[in-house]
This record gives sequence, structure tokens and C-alpha cells, in this order.
Amino acid sequence: MKQENIQHHAELLCLICQSPQKDHHMEVPNRFKPEETFTLVRCSHCGFVFLYPRPDEKEIENYYEDEDYQPHQKDPKSLSEYIYQKVRVWNNSYKRRLIENLISKSSILDYGCGTGEFLLEMQHAGWVTYGFEPAVKAKTVAQQYGLRLLKSPEDLKTPVDVMTLWHVLEHVHQPISLLNQLKEYLSADGLLIIAVPNPRSVDSRMFGKNWVAYDAPRHLYHFRPKDIDSLLHSLGFKIIEYKGLYFDPWYNALLSGTFESHNEPLMKKIFIILKGFAAASLAFGEGLVSSKKSSSVIYIAKKEKL
Ligand SMILES: [Zn+2]
Repeated sequence: MKQENIQHHAELLCLICQSPQKDHHMEVPNRFKPEETFTLVRCSHCGFVFLYPRPDEKEIENYYEDEDYQPHQKDPKSLSEYIYQKVRVWNNSYKRRLIENLISKSSILDYGCGTGEFLLEMQHAGWVTYGFEPAVKAKTVAQQYGLRLLKSPEDLKTPVDVMTLWHVLEHVHQPISLLNQLKEYLSADGLLIIAVPNPRSVDSRMFGKNWVAYDAPRHLYHFRPKDIDSLLHSLGFKIIEYKGLYFDPWYNALLSGTFESHNEPLMKKIFIILKGFAAASLAFGEGLVSSKKSSSVIYIAKKEKL
């Protein structure tokens, strides 16, 4: 990577507590190019973990162009992609039911809608849908489905009642400006729904640097539940509910295990498969007991009343 494209300046402050002090946390590989590694640092003050240094907004586009980047794929090419797509169908229906249990059918903006399958699910159920997606290939697929995609959230004529960011916030360079901007287009009683991977989950702890959701350099931030709590609170939101995404531990373990066992001898591969199964089962179980321990946590928030 070209040095000039890396944000290396000392003034990259902790997103959560604004401290400039950070300690080395771990080196994580790019799962599509394992010889390339990136550094995660931990804020010395609050413990928040993030990628530093990191590619800037232009340079990072190259890292989404990998043909195997599952969220932007339409046709499965391997077993894990096939499973990913089957799980996505179930997940989309689960997400819709979750939302419809909280709010009556109205309008929704899915920020970072990828290829648009979740919005299609909502549209078929009678919602007025809007999507936003910066990645050109994914956006084209969403447009082929006939979905309405915005150039920017500012194109919304009226506020929407639900905004979703499914596995998006960890990719965004400036999450605070984004959430502040989105807040303006959310109705007074609307719901802000954010899902991010949980670095405190069992599968994360068991796979360490090979945990698929470290996904360097695409994932810039690794939010623990307490980080999202303080971030949303500081922006004038209050969290009304936490939920888990129950298929994520299985999928994370499958991909993390596939990555870790690459080029390993058979006995090591078997050990990693068993470890993956144990990690997924434990994370799934813990997620059922407490949503904040899930592999991926869904945070449902409303604007704080003034
Ligand atoms: Zn901090």
C-alpha cells in the first residue's frame, strides 16, 4: 500500500473518548491476502479497539473489489457463499419481523444496503423503501431489482421512520458525522437500528487475529456494547433494546475456521473445525442468554426527547 494513502497522523483520536493515546493491540491479516497485515490499536483511556493506521476513503475502495467479498455477491461460488446467501434470506425475514414488532409499517432507509435483498424483503411487505450504497457493483444489483437508491440521505424529502445500518458502522471512516447527518432525517419517534460484530463474543476471543469480523482493513472499528452505548448516548439517542443475530456465530466460525486452516496439515484442520464448532455453539448459547454477548449485536435506539 502506498504510504501517502495511509492515515498515519497522531491526531486520529479515539472515537469514543477522544483520547489521542493508544497502545498496540494486535496484528491482523487481510483475509483475501494473508501476507498483508494491519495493526489494531487499543485506546489507552477507554480500551476501544480500532484499525490504525488505515487506508483513506479513496484507497479503501480497492479492498472491496475482491471477487470473494461475500456481502456484494449475487451468485454463490462456494459452500460458504451458498450458506451465506441462505442465511441472508432467513436473516432478512428475522430483521423485518423484529422491526414490525416495534413500529407500524411505514418508511425505511437502509444505509449501506449492499445488493438490496433486505430492502426487497421490506418492499414486498409493503414498506416505502430507500437505499444508499457507495459500492458501485453492489448498487447496480440493487438498482436492477428496481429499488430506489439515493445519492445521499439528503435526497430524502421527508424524514423516515426507520433507519438501518446492518454491519455498516464498522466500515465508515467518520461514524459520528454520519450518525449526526442521519439523525436529521429520522422522524421524532423513529428507530435507529445498528448491527455490528461484537469483539467481546466467544467466537472473537477463540479465533483471535483470524476472527473473520476483524476483516482488516475493511473494518475500521471494533465496537463493544459499551462503546455503542456511549457513542449513541453522546449523539442524543437512547437505546431501547438489544438483540442478537443468531446465525452470525455459525457463519463467523465457518469463515474464521476456513481462513485459519488454510495450508494447515489435516490434524490441525480437524482441530480447527472442532474449535469452530465449539466457538459457534458457545457464542450462539451466550447470545440466547444475553444479546450483548452475541457475535453480532443489534442496537435499537430512539432520539432522546428534548
Ligand atoms: Zn477511548
